[in-house]
Amino acid sequence: MTAGERTSRGLILMYHRVAEVSSDPWGLCVTPRHFAEHLAVLRVRTSPLKALDFAVQWDAGATTATSVAVTFDDGYADNLYDAKPLLEQYEVPATCFVSTGYLGQRSYWWDELEQRLLHPGRLPHALRLETASYRGQWDLNGAAWYGEEELRRLRGWKAWEEAPTLRHQIYANLHAVCRPMAEPERRSILDQLLAAVSEAAKIPSTWRPLTKDETVTLGAGGLVEIGAHTVTHPLLSACPSDVAQREIAGSRRALEQILGRPVTSFAFPYGGPADYTPDTMRIVREAGFSCAYSTTPGVVGPGAERFRLPRVHVEDWTGEEFAERLAWWLND
Ligand SMILES: [Zn+2]
Repeated sequence: MTAGERTSRGLILMYHRVAEVSSDPWGLCVTPRHFAEHLAVLRVRTSPLKALDFAVQWDAGATTATSVAVTFDDGYADNLYDAKPLLEQYEVPATCFVSTGYLGQRSYWWDELEQRLLHPGRLPHALRLETASYRGQWDLNGAAWYGEEELRRLRGWKAWEEAPTLRHQIYANLHAVCRPMAEPERRSILDQLLAAVSEAAKIPSTWRPLTKDETVTLGAGGLVEIGAHTVTHPLLSACPSDVAQREIAGSRRALEQILGRPVTSFAFPYGGPADYTPDTMRIVREAGFSCAYSTTPGVVGPGAERFRLPRVHVEDWTGEEFAERLAWWLND
């Protein structure tokens, strides 16, 4: 069967974290209460599948408009402690895409950046960051101190909105600068920022990535599939072929070693149309994966491709809001 002949449909939901947080510039967190409400809706209205089973059934023309896959990106520890018990309670299977280089680490780079700039702490009046390819300099003056009051007042800010303070501007700027960088250069910027901040609270432990042992526990029992999400979460479209190959195949190898079984689902880091290339898709196929998931929004319709399936980003909606959107997606 070719892509043109496919009539099978479906919907793939993308989550990242099940957590209560004090700021969430990328809208990646759903509270445990709302997540439970989403699962209750899914249990009644849809036939939930793991990403692997979704791709196989979709390819065989066997999915229907109510076939839904629940996926999580990155590999946050809350996927095990907060999401999995609810998935079990509602008997909804899911797939967690894990970046293996972060397993056992303290935090993801984007959270570290957020913690240094958008949470209470003091920066020097003149902030300078410099690497081989980047130089940034700011006079913070009044924005040198950021307190609980500012955090509370600006907690709803999203990164795609206009920056309300110089700190938010610096955050958005550095996020864009760090995203395509190789890990060592990005690390250097974050270390310089860390050295510049004083009176800052530690990154909450609930923000951390899974450890290897926790990944095994998350994948135990058959309800949760573990998929790959590269090693260091790079912007694959900015990587030379050999680096992309190491990132993609390396994450599969590492997970298979940790889990002791085949890993066949892959999700592109960032996942937008400019974040991977046809060459990246070829590497994913040749690395032995059977499907790949993007973040291009949309339902899985007749024109979909198995190595860049679309997903819809689920935000921290109430069960009622989620049910309305689900009905809209399923009838699309
Ligand atoms: Zn990701």
